[in-house]
Amino acid sequence: MRGGVHGAAANYTRGMGHSAASLDLSVAGIGAKIAQGLRIGRDEARWLWMNASDAELCSLAAMVRDRFHEPGSCTYMVMRIVNYTNVCVAQCDYCAFYKLPTQDGGYVLSHDEVFAKLDELLALGGDLAAFNGGFNPHLPLSYYCELFAAIRARYGDALEFYALTIAEFMYLADHAKLSYAEAAQRLKGAGVRWITGGGSEILTEEFRARHSKFKYTVAEYFLAQKAIVEAGLKTEKNQTGGLASFLCWTFKPYFTQIGGIEISTAEHLRHLALCRIYFDNIPRIRTSVLTQNQQALEGLNYGADDFDLPIEDEVTQKAGATISLDFERILNYARELGYEPVYRHVSLGEPRWTDGS
Ligand code: SF4
Repeated sequence: MRGGVHGAAANYTRGMGHSAASLDLSVAGIGAKIAQGLRIGRDEARWLWMNASDAELCSLAAMVRDRFHEPGSCTYMVMRIVNYTNVCVAQCDYCAFYKLPTQDGGYVLSHDEVFAKLDELLALGGDLAAFNGGFNPHLPLSYYCELFAAIRARYGDALEFYALTIAEFMYLADHAKLSYAEAAQRLKGAGVRWITGGGSEILTEEFRARHSKFKYTVAEYFLAQKAIVEAGLKTEKNQTGGLASFLCWTFKPYFTQIGGIEISTAEHLRHLALCRIYFDNIPRIRTSVLTQNQQALEGLNYGADDFDLPIEDEVTQKAGATISLDFERILNYARELGYEPVYRHVSLGEPRWTDGS
């Protein structure tokens, strides 16, 4: 249950009414449009993907990045994904992490085991945890509420946590026979402040039906997200209700049912640049050290402005991701690229973005 597009707001209208013939499909033409602060359409994005060089994509992405961030600036967090259970009945064919309830090897972490992971996170200089497990039919709502309340009581504001992906939230609400609104209130009462946009993956009904057919529809996903927002929980939306950040993780195919080939870092970087150019109202575009290791920082030259230094994520590690705890080496690489990384504390909230969004 991964992935994450957080929010949605538009000051512009995506240019869909133009025919390709009426567009100036050249780097200079599209660059002139971006320089005027205008939004590009799908035809232009597709043309850039097919025709623009890496250097040209970097240059265009920098134009959009500079609307929100000082050149040479970037932020990062040290965080841990706490995989509290690997038991799951959703059976996504791209997942190497889950065990069915009938299989050997399933687990559920105790409070003490979770605390040990959070203590280690704090000792390594991190202060953000994200809880991500599976659709475990043996876990009642009380497991979640007691766990989150215990974390809030033990750590207070010294540590923030993202409680579950939206997909897990939907499952626990259904399992407890509660509406999404009621479930959100119960979690909020247990000290939860954040339920983020994870579990979106490729958010189309067609993809869901083919690859995660037991995992809820896109329409249900949006209903749950709406209930979460209305309950006053945070989902990484910005001050105007739009998306504050976007992070795409690349797919790790190893040991999954679907298999496949992992894309190269070079291809990922082109995606990242195009995301920055196309998602021109999302201030924070994040690059993924978890799936691309140190090379992910080259994404700072492709429009990204923020990254995690993760210390654990069993889901992606089971599918082939590797993690380094040599944070100084990674941060120094950012410096070699010309960026000064500054730690970002989730508990301090979002800045006022320079474009006023
Ligand atoms: S991706 Fe998440 S929901 Fe899908 S099988 Fe794996 S743990 Fe379950």
